[in-house]
Amino acid sequence: CGIVSDNSKETKGAAAAPSQTAAGAKNSGKIVIGMSMDTLKEERWQKDRDIFTEKVKELGGEVKALAANGDDATQLSQAEQLISQGVNVLVVIPHNAEATAQIVEKAHKEGIKVISYDRLIKNSDVDYYISFDNVRVGEMQAKAVTDKVGKGNFVYIGGADTDNNAHMFKEGAMNILNPLKEKGDIKIVYDQFSKDWKPEEALKNMENALTANNNNIQAVVAANDGTAGGVIQALTAQGLAGKVPVSGQDADLAAVQRIAQGTQTMTVYKPIKAIATKAAEMAVALAKQGQVADAGKKVNNGKIDVPSVLLDPISVDKSNLADTVIKDGFHKVEDVYKNVP
Ligand code: BGC
Repeated sequence: CGIVSDNSKETKGAAAAPSQTAAGAKNSGKIVIGMSMDTLKEERWQKDRDIFTEKVKELGGEVKALAANGDDATQLSQAEQLISQGVNVLVVIPHNAEATAQIVEKAHKEGIKVISYDRLIKNSDVDYYISFDNVRVGEMQAKAVTDKVGKGNFVYIGGADTDNNAHMFKEGAMNILNPLKEKGDIKIVYDQFSKDWKPEEALKNMENALTANNNNIQAVVAANDGTAGGVIQALTAQGLAGKVPVSGQDADLAAVQRIAQGTQTMTVYKPIKAIATKAAEMAVALAKQGQVADAGKKVNNGKIDVPSVLLDPISVDKSNLADTVIKDGFHKVEDVYKNVP
């Protein structure tokens, strides 16, 4: 049903009886942060929600989180629910970078400030943005792949066209690939976004890329681990898995296992604890003081320069699994090497 927080009962109750919303968060004295999420599909988002919720609790507040299963209308109505319940601050992980500008407008009408979490809400007066350096993510992906293979036919399998991050990842990747293309070392023979970041879309696209090029593909830059999974499935079917470098992102367990096994070249580890903790601190500061002191960077969203916090992503391959995701406790060593003989 899309309701994902411990507060599902309360949330449903309040939605069914709007007259009760007068007793909403703002009047109760307790800080309540609304979290409007695109999806919980990729492994990371549950961690984002859980760590964020935990940290807000530790700071004396409470979180109401709702996930929209990739549907714009659902995300809007869930955000409206949270707004009408009188949350103090709204944190949004947009499914659609443009459509969610409406959520910002509606929240602002009620005096509620909005933090854009991980993905940027475009063309809006969104108050803050917290994310990773996403152009850098794309650069790391293409760099790791071109370090393996510097010549030949390259495929770009992107994320969701509706997600601003997908465009930044691509921009970063092209920063590395374009100079090689201009030198004539590589050709980008296939370049497609994957609708809603779906692995099955990536699989289909990769099958098309292989067919169109008679399997003559030397490298694949895939935008995250989900899409990398689809790509590797297509390569496996042609006996090419492990022979063609493939990038990823998120350090999903399945992906770090593929790295350990040798079918995926790299992933980009974005410490979820860091973003979720910092976002919780920002949200509570916003609720208490009406502003965040240390969002010193600026990211233009097409309308304004949004005060931003941008964290550093970490490139992970076989050689540094132990020093990164395992050392951080993101995954257990026995899980990572589970299927490695
Ligand atoms: C996030 C990635 C994630 C993707 C799909 C992007 O906006 O930055 O970490 O893999 O969305 O959910």
